[in-house]
Amino acid sequence: MKMAPAYGFWDPEREKITPEKLRSWQLEKLQETLECAWRSAFYQQKFSQAGLTPKISSLEEIQRFPFTVKEDLRQSYPFGMLAVPLTQLVRLHASSGTTGKSTLVFHTRKDIENWADLIARCLYMVGARPGDVFQNMMTYGLFTGGLGLHYGAEKIGLLVVPAGSGNTQKQIEFFRDIGTTIIHITPSYCLYLAQVMAEIGLSPGKDLKLRLAIMGAEPYSEATRKKLEKLLHLTVYNCYGLSEMNGPGVAFECPCQQGLHLWEDHFLAEIIDPETGQVLPEGKEGELVLTTLQREGMPIIRYRTRDLTRFVKGRCQCGRIHRRIERIKGRSDDMFIVKGVNIFPSQIETVLMDIPEVDSNFLITLQREKGLDSLTVQVEIKREYFTGDLHQLREIQEKISEQLKSVIIVTPRVELVEPGTIPPSTGKAKRVIDKRRL
Ligand code: ADP
Ligand code: ZN
Repeated sequence: MKMAPAYGFWDPEREKITPEKLRSWQLEKLQETLECAWRSAFYQQKFSQAGLTPKISSLEEIQRFPFTVKEDLRQSYPFGMLAVPLTQLVRLHASSGTTGKSTLVFHTRKDIENWADLIARCLYMVGARPGDVFQNMMTYGLFTGGLGLHYGAEKIGLLVVPAGSGNTQKQIEFFRDIGTTIIHITPSYCLYLAQVMAEIGLSPGKDLKLRLAIMGAEPYSEATRKKLEKLLHLTVYNCYGLSEMNGPGVAFECPCQQGLHLWEDHFLAEIIDPETGQVLPEGKEGELVLTTLQREGMPIIRYRTRDLTRFVKGRCQCGRIHRRIERIKGRSDDMFIVKGVNIFPSQIETVLMDIPEVDSNFLITLQREKGLDSLTVQVEIKREYFTGDLHQLREIQEKISEQLKSVIIVTPRVELVEPGTIPPSTGKAKRVIDKRRL
């Protein structure tokens, strides 16, 4: 096996802490967090109703506490979950609202500093250093993707280009003129970027200095990672987070690329059975539940992320003891059911991105016709296959259909379209249109 490069540690004391020390740190921080949460109107009511007190003497006791869900944040809009007065707050973020109304998360100065420090830890881990030009191609604003990485990158001393998302020609112009070495981008936007580069005849390996892509905010498969690494001549690192837990930087891949280290000095992680709410044994797939361990402004206890993953077994070769999670399979609410079969968009993506003729974008449409569910997958195919050779196109179509069927069981209707037909997304992609619900 190829040895992964080692780039050193931003915060060796915390990253290489022993498991015993980590547990006692977590217990101490959890005790402080519970005391702090009690100061919020929301938790005071919720916990006293459940007959709980903030006093705990072991980490396992967290399991007695009720979960917090997105709806709780909506119900306590805008200030119900604050544990400090407004005068101590310096920043507000809101979730991107993928599902329903936005939810607000408030931060104190210390919260923002801690977040920036975590991001610095992540970027340093994969080799980002002063001298690197970091083009942040995530949306700035209420969404945490832009500002979230910004301050951590500055903390290391990278030259930060706060480009935001979209305006792809300009982004490429910056790559060329400023010599961008690192980008932060969603996988769907990166696929589109690769398409635009190919169309203008740009060869990243020769013409550009890009070497790293930090990629997150939405699920993507290993196949997509490999495809993008090849197309753009760089290394892709997965970055996971959610606004309720700050945003990006909750878990991040190290150079070994064998799962994402979840920073357990800042977050207490559990994996539960989404149906029963029971904590699952280590290694089983389930829903990730997170508790903030160091947040002052708005601590959140046992937050149900709805993201499905599992802990990777064993210790990572990089020397960090923080447990790793597998790349997120999808959200429990992303899953759709067709003819009684449960399907995740990520299963379809994995198949498509492994097929060489496929370009970068696809769209899934669900319909009900004469009482029967149908699943249509529109797939962009590389332009070179649209030469008028219908036989060849038919073969590609059949190949895609068969490979999809072997994974998702249902036979999809596959439509091949030219690159650029499906509207590109520069932020979070919407991959599924469910017309059955309209
Ligand atoms: P919203 O919940 O409105 O989408 P967020 O911006 O907080 O708002 O989105 C967080 C969610 O994005 C996560 O819960 C997860 O579903 C998804 N996500 C973030 N990073 C990744 C990643 N690296 N892989 C898969 N999913 C991710
Ligand atoms: Zn590692």
